[in-house]
Amino acid sequence: MPNSRTLEGKHALVTGGGRGIGAAIARQLVAAGAHVTVLGRRLDVVQALADELPEQVHAVAADVANAEQVHAAFEAARARFGAISILVNNAGQAHSAPFLKTDAALWNQMLSVNLTGSFLCTQAALPDMVQARWGRIVNVASTAGLAGYAYVAAYCAAKHGVIGMTRALALEVAKKGITVNAVCPGYTETDILKDSIANVMAKTGRTEAQAREEFTAGNPQGRLVQPDEVADAVLWLCATSAASITGQSIAVCGGEVMV
Ligand code: NAP
Repeated sequence: MPNSRTLEGKHALVTGGGRGIGAAIARQLVAAGAHVTVLGRRLDVVQALADELPEQVHAVAADVANAEQVHAAFEAARARFGAISILVNNAGQAHSAPFLKTDAALWNQMLSVNLTGSFLCTQAALPDMVQARWGRIVNVASTAGLAGYAYVAAYCAAKHGVIGMTRALALEVAKKGITVNAVCPGYTETDILKDSIANVMAKTGRTEAQAREEFTAGNPQGRLVQPDEVADAVLWLCATSAASITGQSIAVCGGEVMV
């Protein structure tokens, strides 16, 4: 029986695919039959995932904010598995600071990794999709792309920008068989969150349990989102059967944000 979730014959590239949400997405794409290139700054981290399934997964190193490195990594990906049909812009960083302590370096870093990185990778992958008249772009934004949160103005601005880019590009390629969507996780159990919990403990003297409670309190389900829950939403958007869903921002956050 044909399965609309089958991604056999597709080449997916997942940025920040070596750990956290990106690794969960890469694993689910592999399980759906796609060939997957995982991209990260440190080759050893992405290579460890590729070594689990060397026939289906290829690792490349690049900083998504560096145009030359992105170009070289996408060329290497094409050389291994052919034209790219699915791009998941997942690489990201979330640093916090009160607004008046947000210096230009922090501001630029948040914009360059989260927003410019998604722009550069999308420019690198889109010509393949236009040529094939089929493509899926999924941007892993955040609930911080849909609502404001204190102490993360730079991150919030970058993720709102990702959603703006998603909406504009979705319209631009709507007649070319390409969909462009965003997935917006709430607080999800990964290294980013471990760092945020450590940051709260260091700055406020709270215990780990108290700091953790701060992150679960905003979720109406009273828990952290799991990486596989985000990956499942990404996989759904990549399916052939999701062809009518474009320009959307799907919140995966237990009801924390409703749009
Ligand atoms: P994570 O475990 O810290 O993973 C981040 C990934 O991004 C790593 O694979 C990292 O790879 C990669 N990365 C960071 N900077 C990069 C750069 N300049 N170039 C290339 N790769 C880079 O975090 P995560 O929670 O899985 O986050 C994944 C995405 O979800 C991010 O966009 C984040 O903003 C978003 N998100 C997370 C949460 C959450 O609570 N966890 C909530 C909402 C949205 P290397 O360090 O190995 O290069």
